[in-house]
Amino acid sequence: MVRDVLARPLASLRVSVTDRCNLRCRYCMPEQEYVWLPKDSILTFEEIARLVRVFAGLGVEKVRLTGGEPLLRHDLPALTAMLAPIPGVRDLAMTTNGLLLAKQADALRRAGLRRVTVSLDTLRPERMRALARSDRHADVLAGIVAARRAGFERVKLNTVVIRGVNADELAELIEFARVQDAEVRFIEYMDVGGATEWSAEQVVSQREMLEILSRRYGAIAPVPAGADPAAPAERFRLPDGTTFGIIASTTAPFCRSCDRSRLTADGTWFLCLYAERGMDLRAPLRAGASDAELAELISAAWRGRTDRGAEERLALAGRTVLYPREALRADPRREMHTRGG
Ligand code: SAM
Repeated sequence: MVRDVLARPLASLRVSVTDRCNLRCRYCMPEQEYVWLPKDSILTFEEIARLVRVFAGLGVEKVRLTGGEPLLRHDLPALTAMLAPIPGVRDLAMTTNGLLLAKQADALRRAGLRRVTVSLDTLRPERMRALARSDRHADVLAGIVAARRAGFERVKLNTVVIRGVNADELAELIEFARVQDAEVRFIEYMDVGGATEWSAEQVVSQREMLEILSRRYGAIAPVPAGADPAAPAERFRLPDGTTFGIIASTTAPFCRSCDRSRLTADGTWFLCLYAERGMDLRAPLRAGASDAELAELISAAWRGRTDRGAEERLALAGRTVLYPREALRADPRREMHTRGG
């Protein structure tokens, strides 16, 4: 296993398969216009599978398909079927907004996808219209039901909590998840690239979420970290046994245990969600580099990794948006939807 300067292993890879998305969530893609990655720069399935094989050879065991919206990439089950059998990949998962999931859940499960996380920020269609500029709330709910039926090992729901938008729905979302036999994870609103409407006042901290929920449910107990201490969510248990998670990346970052890196759809590899620059893996790949040469590039970069992006953001006085709009237009790889959430 390759370890970085802070002894963090190269264990988890998020693979963005497209920078396109069919939602316009205000915390991620609030603009009217975007600069997209050039079509000919997008990695083919064969190229993605080759890179994942190299990463797996270096110790990556968790792979998550993301985007943009991963289900917008044509024939994602075909890519899934190429990645699932790669030796070393023990956990193949996907994060999706669920809009197209109902149609594809069975095929993805059959192809070897093990776990699915569906983003669900609200149970109210009119709120989704305002938050994500979409009236397809029913399709998301149908996607969640289809995922359960398809027999994924686990279905999780991701909710970005924003003051004045959906912070009054925490309990309803927990109840909904319980009925769906899923687990909800509340994510603190992050100042990632693309979140051009972010402000500190809109962040509902983990502490505040726990206060809101304990007023409703009584004492909430932390669940001890399980087999995966690098998992981003801290888990909690309500008095009736229902569990939920909180990802406190903004107010209590977990850089010290971060084993994640991100591959964009054009083959740029980022060692931190907040990193200014990534490493171009597409150029050596297309120039004919051998697996051993690619592995050497990757492991050398990881061994030199010192990133602690979220902790450095937390230490800033007067924290405001990470990039202004012009900086995002100048380099779309700064966007969360390009980097892969
Ligand atoms: N389209 C897919 C989806 O909606 O799940 C995958 C990509 S999306 C960028 C991945 C995750 O990033 C989602 O759960 C989304 O809620 C989260 N995300 C995006 N912007 C965020 C922000 N500013 N703060 C916190 N989470 C964010």
